[in-house]
Amino acid sequence: MHFSREYIDELLSRVNMMEVMSRHGVQVKAGSGNNNYFIADFCCGKKDFDNGRIRKSTQNYKCRACRNGGNAIHFLRNVVGMSFIDAVKDLATMVGMDLPEEDGKEREYQKRRELALKLTADFYHKQNNFDYFLSRGISLDVLKKYKAGYAPGGRVLRDYLESQGFTKQELTEFKLLNQKGLDKFFYRAIIPIFMNGKVVDLYGRQVREGNGVKHLYLYGDVTFLGGYDFIEPGKMVTIYESYIDQLVAESYGISNGTNVGGASKFSSDHAKLLKKKAIDKGLVIFDGDNPGRKGAYETGKILNESNIETWIGDLPDGQDPAEILNQEGLESFRNKVAGRPFRKVQMHRDLSQYSVDEIEEYLAEKKLKLEGS
Ligand SMILES: [Zn+2]
Repeated sequence: MHFSREYIDELLSRVNMMEVMSRHGVQVKAGSGNNNYFIADFCCGKKDFDNGRIRKSTQNYKCRACRNGGNAIHFLRNVVGMSFIDAVKDLATMVGMDLPEEDGKEREYQKRRELALKLTADFYHKQNNFDYFLSRGISLDVLKKYKAGYAPGGRVLRDYLESQGFTKQELTEFKLLNQKGLDKFFYRAIIPIFMNGKVVDLYGRQVREGNGVKHLYLYGDVTFLGGYDFIEPGKMVTIYESYIDQLVAESYGISNGTNVGGASKFSSDHAKLLKKKAIDKGLVIFDGDNPGRKGAYETGKILNESNIETWIGDLPDGQDPAEILNQEGLESFRNKVAGRPFRKVQMHRDLSQYSVDEIEEYLAEKKLKLEGS
């Protein structure tokens, strides 16, 4: 089933986040100012309302302790564990919205959008400007394989797509143009995101300081695995935080990599996609910082729950895969990535919640006996 952007926007505008959360056992409390409150027990084990905020104007939630948050769909997927489609259906029932009917017009719209995205990716690729990605240590072969490109901006893309029969209205609906009718991406290095042979989103990396956000997606809410179509079935997959890391690693000969566009983005939907490729082993290599380590653990947990045997590759403080590969080479990278079985990492993490005096309690909980005591 397909849901248009308009449908999702309308749905989210009708949702009451307090109601969604309390339905799923989260305690909520109305506030008098801009926010309502919730108890951030599900993410941080909190027992009071100090950290959980629901912004009334957007109905988005956020935990101030771990920065976790998003809209109601995000909550149902990441906290409750629903699939995207189930989350949308659940909310639609809740607010009394009919599910969209798939009709010929809708299918035609999707086909036009697919074509526009494909032509866009080709157009950016043909600019033959790979300067930024080359400067990050990605090889030309890899850039060509992934159809990387460059967005000059202005209205060059618009002019091109109009010459191919697209109208301004269509291109605006597809989000390829901004409100001024100019190209959404300007001065950006581009990686098109393919899933099953189709371009489903575009990633644009800022190449000049001060020119908007660093990472910009055309849509940003599409479930993707970078390089999905190249993942070899049954082979161990390496998961990175970003496209840059994935493509740098591939340039150094480490293949079968993927990424989900951020340290905290991996969901059970991604795990399902990997299972479709018969992947049963995964190595997670995120940045050597707090968000990276936290994200790697959460990713490992989801993979592990999906019966994908997982290793966590921890990097030294402040370093990321691309940096180590480019500055120190493959050999050093392999040495530095201490790939540890997820179960071991999990046990260590559990254990660290206990004080020295409580170790017996922990062991009892794990039904283990401390020998000789
Ligand atoms: Zn939290």
